Amino acid sequence: MKLLVATRSPGKVREIRELFAGLPFEIQFPADRFLERLPEEADLERGSTYTENATAKARYFAQRSGFPTVADDSGLEVDALGGAPGIHSARWARETGEGGAGGGGLDARNNALLLERLAGVPETQRTARYRCIVAYLETPSGIPEIVEASCEGFILPAPRGTGGFGYDPLFFSTDLRMSFGEAPPAAKHRVSHRGRAFRALIEVLLRRVK
Ligand code: IMP
Repeated sequence: MKLLVATRSPGKVREIRELFAGLPFEIQFPADRFLERLPEEADLERGSTYTENATAKARYFAQRSGFPTVADDSGLEVDALGGAPGIHSARWARETGEGGAGGGGLDARNNALLLERLAGVPETQRTARYRCIVAYLETPSGIPEIVEASCEGFILPAPRGTGGFGYDPLFFSTDLRMSFGEAPPAAKHRVSHRGRAFRALIEVLLRRVK
């Protein structure tokens, strides 16, 4: 079964390839189908929920590709920040104009902003979770199949490890007792929001093809 995965994030591309490895799906990403990035793609994540954003991305790329399409919208929710950055996780530092001390890329600035906002907050109050919502559309006009999952942890006072992507060096996983930046990929997939959500989706898809 051919599936388009509607993401251009290198971190997500790597993880989703690993999550589908060895399964009877031929997955492709927009670049594999020569779908160039268009300015209108910036509007796909303007919804007010993960589900809206995941569905918008899946529908848009199903229309452009003609293939059944799956899209992931995800984020980090920090309790001491009232659930921020949540759906704003990807572009948090850019949207707020803060996090300048991170230098370099957006991930570094997002992480700097997270540490700034949590300065002085004790470990017991730094609880957080990653959330992942996956939308699957068989046809562009279909009703989306939605699966979701989360994983619990807390935000470290300084980065640990260089693995994963995004906020991973600062996210200490309660399940693994190490940061996602320190975790080998297979360990992260076993407990992560994305690993759990994609395994649930894969079960649904395998039931359908039987
Ligand atoms: P979006 O789903 O493309 O809006 O982006 C999700 C954003 O949430 C990413 O750019 C990261 O900042 C953050 N995020 C989601 N999942 C992960 C993860 O597994 N590790 C690190 N950061 C993540």
